[in-house]
Amino acid sequence: MESRFDIEDAAFRALVREFVRDNLPADMAWRTRHRSFYGGHRDIMAWSRILARNGWAVPHWPVEHGGTGWTAAQLHMFHEETRRADAPPLPYQGPYLVGPVLIAVGSDEQKRRFLPRIASGEDCWCQGFSEPGAGSDLASLRTTALRRADHYVVSGQKLWTSAAHEADWGFFLVRTDPSARPQQGISFLLIDMRSPGVTVRPVILLNGEHHVNEVFLDEVLVPAANLVGEENKGWHYAKTLLGAERTVSAEVYWSENELAKLKEIARRERVRGTALIDDEAFRRRLAYLEIELRALRYSVLRVSAGEPDPVPEGAITSALKLRGSELMQKVAELQVEALGPKAMRYFDAAEFPVSDAAHADDPSWPAYAIAKTGGQLTLRAATIAGGARDVQKNIIAKLAFGL
Ligand SMILES: Cc1cc2nc3c(=O)[nH]c(=O)nc-3n(C[C@H](O)[C@H](O)[C@H](O)COP(=O)(O)OP(=O)(O)OC[C@H]3O[C@@H](n4cnc5c(N)ncnc54)[C@H](O)[C@@H]3O)c2cc1C
Repeated sequence: MESRFDIEDAAFRALVREFVRDNLPADMAWRTRHRSFYGGHRDIMAWSRILARNGWAVPHWPVEHGGTGWTAAQLHMFHEETRRADAPPLPYQGPYLVGPVLIAVGSDEQKRRFLPRIASGEDCWCQGFSEPGAGSDLASLRTTALRRADHYVVSGQKLWTSAAHEADWGFFLVRTDPSARPQQGISFLLIDMRSPGVTVRPVILLNGEHHVNEVFLDEVLVPAANLVGEENKGWHYAKTLLGAERTVSAEVYWSENELAKLKEIARRERVRGTALIDDEAFRRRLAYLEIELRALRYSVLRVSAGEPDPVPEGAITSALKLRGSELMQKVAELQVEALGPKAMRYFDAAEFPVSDAAHADDPSWPAYAIAKTGGQLTLRAATIAGGARDVQKNIIAKLAFGL
């Protein structure tokens, strides 16, 4: 009988493997393997352009907008094979966040203008939602957009905006009706990041990397045609988008790769003359982690396969996000423990980015040890970015258990 969700389709896997073998540049794979979780935006965009040559940069989109028409199982195999080979992930903000919103509620003109440039990897996007004082409590955001003739005049400040310094475009939540109830006066606006009045300033992460930013908007003129959907309905679109964000942020492929690296480390590192991987206490912790990760993998697969579930979707995506981000931290912590002092070797803000290939030639310290501590420290952010841990727990409590 034909399987409904066949994740062992050998021919499909072979196709993806062959593509990766022929198209993933070795230096890009090296950097991806050794960098910390929040690094590598340029490689991510460059890989997206390589995938686009084969029509694979937005594989999950509908075919008419540049997607592949793959089944959920094929999508899973694509991600698994590419990530196992140390290819960068797909860009996040364009293909996963704003793209699906535009497909659902964008105007024909917006679809024509923006979707092909996401599908080709040409445009890099950022997400301007959070503000000082409006993170978990996003509905209290204060950036305003005042309508003047055929433009909006946008003023305010965004915070933690990932990749804003690389982005061509940003999708922003702005307040268009200050007199309405908080969630009802918000709109979803597309802003050209090169517009006069947009200033991007870096916020440096714990390991010295530049990934997030402050974005200042000082009377930025935005054409009214850049409003997505209806005015004052932005909250509704944002909620749909945040659901997608949390599914992807289970980050199961990342954690599986890091678990494989952890095993590699444990095979090489020795305690009292024995390989760490043969130490019983360590093995138990490793096994426990692997079981937890496998359970997450099956949960992600069940959601991807669209299995019916009595629990509302919002609770499921929050649970995946919560569990995934906690496991990322656990894997990273155990790596650092396994490496001991070697994990500190290149943790020095001045020496970042960690991808500096010069470190690879140092024979006394294995490449797998590069900047693990720095990477682990930045992963503190995993249980905050995309929706803080306690807030996810509140969502689950409310939606799944009616508390
Ligand atoms: C690395 C990184 C990248 C990010 N990228 C982006 C981006 O690209 N675009 C964007 O818009 N935002 C981005 N963010 C922002 C992120 O969405 C917010 O940091 C997150 O929503 C939390 O908001 P906050 O930082 O204001 O913390 P707060 O909301 O102030 O929360 C502080 C603490 O209080 C807890 N808390 C808050 N409310 C409650 C409650 N009701 N009940 C119980 N506990 C609560 C939280 O769990 C947290 O522990 C990013 C953040 C990080 C760290």
